[in-house]
Amino acid sequence: MIISPTDLEITDLEADAIVVGVDAQGTLTQEAREIDAATGGLLARLVAQEEISGKLGKVGILLAPPGLRAGQVAVVGLGESRQFGRGQAFRAAAAAAKRLAERRRRRVAFFLGDGWSEQQVESGICGAMVGCRGQDLYRTEKNLHAFEEILWDDAYETVLASGRILGESVNLTRQLVNEPPSRIYPESFAAEAEKFAEEFGLGIEVWDEQRLEEERCHALLAVARGSSRPPRLVILSHRGGGPDDPILALVGKGVTFDSGGLSIKPTDSMKTMKCDMAGAATVFGVMQAVARLELPVNVIGLAGLVENMVGGNAYKVGDVISARSGKTIEVLNTDAEGRLVLADVLDLALERKANRIIDLATLTGACMVALGTDVAGLMTNDQPWCDAVRQAADDCGEAVWQLPMFPDCYDEQIQSKVADIKNVGEGRWGGAITAAKFLEQFVGKTPWTHVDIAGPAFLENPKPWLDAGGTGVFVRTLVEVARRWTAEMNDA
Ligand SMILES: [Zn+2]
Repeated sequence: MIISPTDLEITDLEADAIVVGVDAQGTLTQEAREIDAATGGLLARLVAQEEISGKLGKVGILLAPPGLRAGQVAVVGLGESRQFGRGQAFRAAAAAAKRLAERRRRRVAFFLGDGWSEQQVESGICGAMVGCRGQDLYRTEKNLHAFEEILWDDAYETVLASGRILGESVNLTRQLVNEPPSRIYPESFAAEAEKFAEEFGLGIEVWDEQRLEEERCHALLAVARGSSRPPRLVILSHRGGGPDDPILALVGKGVTFDSGGLSIKPTDSMKTMKCDMAGAATVFGVMQAVARLELPVNVIGLAGLVENMVGGNAYKVGDVISARSGKTIEVLNTDAEGRLVLADVLDLALERKANRIIDLATLTGACMVALGTDVAGLMTNDQPWCDAVRQAADDCGEAVWQLPMFPDCYDEQIQSKVADIKNVGEGRWGGAITAAKFLEQFVGKTPWTHVDIAGPAFLENPKPWLDAGGTGVFVRTLVEVARRWTAEMNDA
C-alpha cells in the first residue's frame, strides 16, 4: 500500500474517494466546508436534515458531487470534539476506510487532519490501514478491498511513516490471528517471527523441544504433549538502548489451537480457538513496530507456542508438573493451559533480567464474564506499573479495566493439597483473578502487569470500523508504553 502526503486543493484532487469529517454538533471541518462551498451548500444541508451524522464513526456518502474531481466524498462522524483523542481519530478513519473498502478503490484521500495533533494523525493513518483490511484471507471474492494508495492531507513524512508502521503492525497481528490453525502452528508461527526478525533487524532465538527440555520448561512441554506439533519458544530482542539500560519484557501466550485437551471444549467454544495465540501475535506486532521505529530502548518479546490437543500422550487431570522455576503444579483442568505455558516463559523473562514485565494472554472466559468482550482486564503486583500501562491504553483509546488482586481473598484459592499450587481456583468465581494469581507466582518481585485480552482480541461480529476476526488490540498501547519507556529514561 502506498501512503503519501498531498498538498493539493481538495477540489483539484483526483481520487476514487475523499474523506472529510463532521463533529457531533454538526460542525464541518475546514476541508468539509471547502467541499460544502464547491457543492453549493449540499453538505451543510444534509447535516441539517440529519442525513449525515456527526456521531463517531457514522459514515455518509456523496456520490459524484459536482465541483469536485473525486468520484465520491465520505463524510465521517468525529463524535464529541471535547472527547476527541487518538482513539477517536483511529476509529473515525477506520470507519470511513471500512465503508469505502466495500468496493475496489485505487486511491482514497483523507482530509481529516485539520487541527489534529501529530499523534492523532498517526492514529488516523493507522486506522485507515486497519479499517480497509478484512479477515477474508481465503475468500475468492473479498468482502473488503484494501486500497492501493492512501493520501493524507498536509501530513509530515515522519508521521506518515510511523502511522504506516503502526498500521502494518496491527494488521500483522490480525493476520496471524486470522490464519487457520492448519497454517499457524508452533513451528510455522516461529518461522513467521524469523522472517520479520531478519527483515527488521531484531535478534531472535527459537527453542525447539530438545532445548525446552534442557531448559526445564516442563509446564510448557506438558501442555504440548498431546499434539503431534512440537512446541517452540521464541525470544525476540530489540537492543535500542545502552547495555546497562533497563529491559522491558513483553510475554505472549501462543496456544495456536486450544481444544481444551482432555478437559475438552464443546464445538461452539472451540470455534474461535485459533485465536488463543493472540497474545503472542500481539507481542510479534509490537516487536516489529519497536524495531522499525528504532526506539532507543531495550525490549524483549517472549512467546510460548504450543498446541493444546488430546492424544495418547496428553497431560492429564491430576498430573503434577514441575515448572521451570521449580514450583510444582497440580493440573486440575487441562483447559487452563495458558497459565502453564506462561509460567515457564515468565520465569525466563526474569532470567533475562527484565526490569518490567507485561504479559498478554487470551487467558480466561471469566474475564469476559466480568468485563464483556470489548474490555481487557488488567491485573498487577505493582500499582505504578499498572497505572502506566492503563494510561497508555486510555491515551490510545483501547478499553481496559483493572481487577483486584487482594491476597486475603484470592491467594488461598490456588493452593493445592499435593503440590505447591494448582492450575485452577476454587470453583468458577473470580476465574480471571485466580489465573492472574497463578501467574504472579512466577514473576518474583519484578513489576508485572497481566493483560487478559480474551474478550477484545477477537470479534465474532464486525464493528463499523473493524472487520470481525483478530483485532490487533493492544499493539498500539504497547508501542506507546515502549515510547514512554524512552521518555522516562531520557528524563533520568
Ligand atoms: Zn484453554
